[in-house]
Amino acid sequence: MNREAMEAILQKIQEYDRITLFRHVRNDGDCVGATKGLKRIIQLTWPEKEVYLIDHDTAKYLEFMGPEDEEIPDELYADSLGIVLDTASEARISNKKYTLCKELIKIDHHIPLETYGSLQWVEEERSSCCEMVVAFYDAFRDVLKIDSEAATYLYTGMVTDSGRFKYSGVNGDTMRNAAVLLDVGVDTDTLFARLYLEAYEYLKFKAHIYQRMQITPNGVAYIYIDRAMQAEFGLSLEQASACIGNLDSIRGCISWIAFIESGDERGTIRVRLRSRFVHINGIAEKYRGGGHACASGATLYSRDEVDALLADTDALVKEYKETHEGWL
Ligand code: AMP
Repeated sequence: MNREAMEAILQKIQEYDRITLFRHVRNDGDCVGATKGLKRIIQLTWPEKEVYLIDHDTAKYLEFMGPEDEEIPDELYADSLGIVLDTASEARISNKKYTLCKELIKIDHHIPLETYGSLQWVEEERSSCCEMVVAFYDAFRDVLKIDSEAATYLYTGMVTDSGRFKYSGVNGDTMRNAAVLLDVGVDTDTLFARLYLEAYEYLKFKAHIYQRMQITPNGVAYIYIDRAMQAEFGLSLEQASACIGNLDSIRGCISWIAFIESGDERGTIRVRLRSRFVHINGIAEKYRGGGHACASGATLYSRDEVDALLADTDALVKEYKETHEGWL
């Protein structure tokens, strides 16, 4: 734990009257939970400070956490402290007004692709960025205030980014930090229902996925979702992208990938890569992406690139299986 960075961040927050919070594009439970959780902690602790979370990117399944703040004039950004959570590179910061901030802090748990801001606190072994915010709260409990609203935001990110506490990044610290939140109070029944119940129509799409998915010779499971399939099942891009979770339990398939056509004029294909045992972030980095060792994203522009990425992943999996034992 980087106590020095945490102390420096606390000092900066204390120094500024206005704080603006930022997160990554194509938001997820972790970046939404971390920004909302930290915002709430700051507001509870220092009611006189102005704290803004402005982001126009929304995700339907996360709407239960509530709307973001209205846009503010540029001058208000200008003398604020900007804190960017859960975002490895500047290109992925969603609200580009972050460039106006007087000072910028990065708090992240991704493999660092670049540094930005005047102060960074990066711990890539953390299972979520929300866990870092909880550790921050816990380190300065005597100063900071939390309530069950903040705890619920943060627990949301901890649950979603760790695959419900299943992924390999989960360790004793993860559970100790989760315990801090449960002690404050989280309605886990309601939260899990909000996050994981599925519409009956979505099950039909799932059945289709299982029929259409393929497996490469060495065990990379993949599905290509074109615009026609999205239209057939009436799916948003976000709903179609969620299918990556359906490919994760096939014995012998230690990597799995979803390709989703975005329908923009550039012909962008969103790639979601996942794995167990073998690390696939190097593949993502080769194809304009990045992320974590076992959960990354990339961007492609043609079917040829899809084939190339699949061939690379298949070769990586082959090499891994030939040189390692114990994978399942
Ligand atoms: P996703 O499949 O979009 O959920 O992404 C998995 C992980 O990789 C997340 O932590 C993302 O923040 C990260 N990621 C996704 N796309 C990119 C990208 N183009 N560049 C860097 N990191 C990415």
